[in-house]
Amino acid sequence: MATCPFCSRQVEPTDRHIYQRVVGWEKHRSRGGTNAIALREVRQEWAHAYCVDRAKRGHLGQTGIG
Ligand SMILES: [Zn+2]
Repeated sequence: MATCPFCSRQVEPTDRHIYQRVVGWEKHRSRGGTNAIALREVRQEWAHAYCVDRAKRGHLGQTGIG
């Protein structure tokens, strides 16, 4: 069991409606385009899909995160 970094509630890593954290290296592009992440690394961190989707829309993360 893990904790969602957005709502601080528990996340079940085997649930379908979750996101798993990945980190990696993105090549700098002058003209945008699709993201190609190199050396992608999966972290043992999970979050609810609805929390991530809300954060992407800007409803969360306005108080210092990111
Ligand atoms: Zn959450």
